[in-house]
Amino acid sequence: MNIVIFGPPGAGKGTQSKFIVERFNMYQLSTGEFLRKEMSKNTSIGKKISSVINSGSLVSDKIVSDLIEKIISDKQYQNRIIFDGYPRNLNQAKNLDNLLQRYKQKIHIVLKLSVSLETIKKRISERRSLEKRIDDVEEIAIKRYKTYEKSTEPVIEYYKKLNLLKVIDGENTINQINKEISDIISLI
Ligand code: AMP
Repeated sequence: MNIVIFGPPGAGKGTQSKFIVERFNMYQLSTGEFLRKEMSKNTSIGKKISSVINSGSLVSDKIVSDLIEKIISDKQYQNRIIFDGYPRNLNQAKNLDNLLQRYKQKIHIVLKLSVSLETIKKRISERRSLEKRIDDVEEIAIKRYKTYEKSTEPVIEYYKKLNLLKVIDGENTINQINKEISDIISLI
């Protein structure tokens, strides 16, 4: 089974992915984390990635595609991958289908953690930051939320049409969300 997980920053995607990894013995492929690891190596490709990420842009589809192909083609991860941070656009979504097909796999389910902007703001104010003024933190979070919504919308639509999409109510408690996800995955 392979899963794609979506959720805006602050929705608890990290917590839920960790839960799925442990409960269902899966492997989390977080492209952001992979890229940060590559950056820290200080190789020529690492330096290139650094400059792109630090400028706030997306890394090229080719670089990220090569990276995920390494994992998809590796037998030890076969049919047990959670894609986190990929796909980020339609081109990547189609590329993911092609890659999985090449290695005789597919996506079984797409989970979308749905949380309102109001809740994200509330969570931030409960977790007051000592270093920054709360307004700054809130402003950044709002911007990230809107960027996330806008950029993932076509990809979410793509999976909806393929009947793969499950929307999870991210407003619930962590335990309730765990249970909902478990029930969905157990039915696959
Ligand atoms: P994240 O931790 O998922 O927010 O990713 C951190 C940064 O890595 C992003 O801002 C992008 O620059 C880059 N990145 C992560 N995933 C992708 C992707 N699928 N395509 C292009 N760039 C990505």
